Amino acid sequence: MLHAKREEHHRHVYLRDATADANGDPEGFLRILADEIIDCRKCPRLVDYREKVAKERRRAFRDWTYWGRPVAGFGDPNAKLFILGLAPAAHGANRTGRVFTGDRSGDFLYAALHKTGFANQPASLNRDDGLQLRNAYIAAAVRCAPPANKPFPSELLNCRSYLEQELSLLKPKIVLALGKIAWDAYLEILKSHGVIESRAKFVFAHGAELELPDDSPMLVGVYHPSQQNTQTGRVTAVMYAKVLQRIRKLLASP
Ligand code: SF4
Repeated sequence: MLHAKREEHHRHVYLRDATADANGDPEGFLRILADEIIDCRKCPRLVDYREKVAKERRRAFRDWTYWGRPVAGFGDPNAKLFILGLAPAAHGANRTGRVFTGDRSGDFLYAALHKTGFANQPASLNRDDGLQLRNAYIAAAVRCAPPANKPFPSELLNCRSYLEQELSLLKPKIVLALGKIAWDAYLEILKSHGVIESRAKFVFAHGAELELPDDSPMLVGVYHPSQQNTQTGRVTAVMYAKVLQRIRKLLASP
């Protein structure tokens, strides 16, 4: 019995702790967490890469002072939609310092969020452009830009606690995974907390919806809004609008 209770406690621990820590001030808690994230140097390979890119810069951005640090989450501190991406782009968020800001993926994503009422404007140019999210929060599974957009499993693991803290604070109703790596990263959290035994039966697809045990948020999947996907037509604005409108309905339901 005691064992079962311990299991139960363990299972839900990531859903509880940060609320107490936030002490009624989710915005303040997220600010403190963001300060911690941007000082992080746990992954030597990613630290080297993000700083190298920031130093060398791309010709088109030679007038920019690149951010070159980890990128914290961004959005509404009371959001019920948690959007989970993969990692900052080397010349996008690693340059501007805000998630999905300054690259084509971000242009596509924020336009879709604006169209469906989750953002106050379609453009996402820099940290001071006035963009605000409504009922949505965006973070990445890995907070530093990885070479070739491919983080190592060990780097995903190193970074996981930041995501867990955000999830435990926000307690979203829906997690929207942008691509399979984000989908798997979220399921890995549930697995590590004993909510699911394995992620094998939870197959990623664009528009997939998963009801998960123990009052966990519903998991919804979409193809990643990468330039490769949007330029080839694998992902279109209509496809994103459809999923986001469906999410609006789900959020409005009791
Ligand atoms: Fe830290 Fe995450 Fe960046 Fe690794 S990827 S250095 S854990 S912020």
